[in-house]
Amino acid sequence: MRKNIVAGNWKMNTTLDEGVELANEINEKVKGIKRNCEVIICVPFTHLTSVNAVIESENVALGAENCSEHDKGAYTGEVSAAMVKSTGATHVILGHSERRQYFGENNEQLLAKTRQALANGLTPIFCVGEVLEDRENGSYNDVVEGQVEALFDLTAEDFGKLVIAYEPVWAIGTGKTATADQAQDMHAHIRKVIEGKYGKDVADNTSILYGGSCKPENAKEIFSKPDVDGGLIGGAALKADSFMGIIEAFN
Ligand code: PEP
Repeated sequence: MRKNIVAGNWKMNTTLDEGVELANEINEKVKGIKRNCEVIICVPFTHLTSVNAVIESENVALGAENCSEHDKGAYTGEVSAAMVKSTGATHVILGHSERRQYFGENNEQLLAKTRQALANGLTPIFCVGEVLEDRENGSYNDVVEGQVEALFDLTAEDFGKLVIAYEPVWAIGTGKTATADQAQDMHAHIRKVIEGKYGKDVADNTSILYGGSCKPENAKEIFSKPDVDGGLIGGAALKADSFMGIIEAFN
């Protein structure tokens, strides 16, 4: 059965010392509670090895925020999935709307990155979500469906290894959260789309996370919806207390 997951996305925040301190604090706090979800922190490339040294995998798993679509070679400044894996990371965020928007990542590249991640034993946390205009003109279901379908060249076995994160772009970092019903409707839609291609088993076993201004005050209601299996958390993941408040929403 699918897992409940709370994953933090640190983005381009924290120096190395700050990041290690935050990871350590999260690890210690998670250790001290009974919890009903897997906890993942996705951190900048520069922090992976040092953060891995202070977390315990049974409490907190480690992820990167991106990886290259290439295997290795002359791609100055890029970081491959194999490099990410070699730090001890187990997850990687792919297709975040900031990567799509500011770095022009397209469906073809994202499929290639997903293949690289899977080939190197990383679990992709694959992000999808519509912009405000799509929400307002009513095309949001089609837009998100298209982003999920971009992965439909994967085998059912490979698709079954993914975590999907629905992050309406208009809710990211804006303080504007989708309502729990809007999240549920989209998650159910995504699950239907997956079922149409890969069948009920794969669809039922895929964890679909909500992301977009999720905080301790709204997490419980959003997570209570049947197709919402947790959250991908930006701003609120940068303070141990607010991140813990979201993790505890599952208790
Ligand atoms: C994110 O960028 O993945 C995100 C969900 O950000 P925030 O929680 O800050 O809206």
